[in-house]
Amino acid sequence: MRKNYFVKLVRYMKNVYHLEHGLNKLSDGRVNPTYRTSQVILPVLLGFLLRIKSFNELNFMIKNNEFSKLFPRGTKLPKIDAIRDTLKVMDIDGLKQVNQNIVKTAVENKVFDNGTIDGYTVVAIDGTKFFGSNKKSCPECLKNTKGNKIHSFHSGAVISTVGKGPKLVIGFEMYRPGEDSASKDEGELNVAKRLLSSIMKSQKRLMDVVVYDALACNSVWINHCKNLGIGTIVRAKNNNNKSLRSARKKTNKSKTVDVWEDERGFEKVEVYESIFTMDNVEQPLRFVKFAMKHKDKKRTQIMIVTTCNDMALKTLFKIIRARWDIENSIFNNLKSECGLEHCFVHDGNAVEAVLNLIFISSNITQLFLVRRLRDHFTTQREMVRLLLKGLYLMKYKDELVFSSS
Ligand SMILES: [Zn+2]
Repeated sequence: MRKNYFVKLVRYMKNVYHLEHGLNKLSDGRVNPTYRTSQVILPVLLGFLLRIKSFNELNFMIKNNEFSKLFPRGTKLPKIDAIRDTLKVMDIDGLKQVNQNIVKTAVENKVFDNGTIDGYTVVAIDGTKFFGSNKKSCPECLKNTKGNKIHSFHSGAVISTVGKGPKLVIGFEMYRPGEDSASKDEGELNVAKRLLSSIMKSQKRLMDVVVYDALACNSVWINHCKNLGIGTIVRAKNNNNKSLRSARKKTNKSKTVDVWEDERGFEKVEVYESIFTMDNVEQPLRFVKFAMKHKDKKRTQIMIVTTCNDMALKTLFKIIRARWDIENSIFNNLKSECGLEHCFVHDGNAVEAVLNLIFISSNITQLFLVRRLRDHFTTQREMVRLLLKGLYLMKYKDELVFSSS
């Protein structure tokens, strides 16, 4: 093998993102532990980088000493039960900090200096369910009853960059039963507000615009973004709200403000726009309708509401369409490749710890792919195959060892 991709990845994690430094600062609530926190967390993180689908798989790798060249000679790694127990008492804020530092380092390394869409750094928020199971559950589970089957799952909102460049998970926030409304939209909106507030504290420099779906097309969300000092674009809701209904009417009756022929996959896009005031929002907002004629003559439309007053119409169009990146590049990829749907361990704290580790590994992979390998793999699966091969073939070298001090 000409290049050992696994060795490259380890060097990248150690030298660019100083990951062992962050992991060594982690702590957990065990009394007199046999293993240091980082000795427990690192195998799990390596497992997620190599796309394990279950803790059984990880157990198998540990038993086979497959990670032995990544630890000082003679290091004993914990068994899977010790890993589970540690995750249950793991310090979640510490893990979140590890991810925040990865994002901060990416920003310092100018990963987003040219923005992700037309010079703006755009992030999207979306809600998702994970770790669904008909058998296992924990007190923090949300539940759905279908017939006589009870489906238990967890739920939360994720914020990630969309557009050009690596798709980084900047943060996520769990749904809290009791605190967040049981009604789907209201509950998710509450989680998303909490998420954006906390991320704006740590990554304010990174984000210009946040894009979200129609459940956020209301004064609560728009005022929240305004107070935090970030622009927002949301899909316009089709019904209820009186001010929105009249804005839509006004926009529909107006003349086209722009027409684009042959715009990226469409035969024609006609743009309509009007300014309106939403109940309970002080500033005037833009209501924009994109009417698309597809190459197969099919017609569809997208309507948005935005606080971005000076943004070009084409940029708005690109951003609202890039919203799907979070669905495609993050959720679908993590669900099919990283076991985001598989229930690793049901316990409120462990669930959050596992999610953080999945997102950290996803971010490292994204950065490694885009920055170091320039996307030259055909698929992520192909990359994982080469990483595994590299792990088997690597030689013991001091510089590749993750020391725990
Ligand atoms: Zn659970």
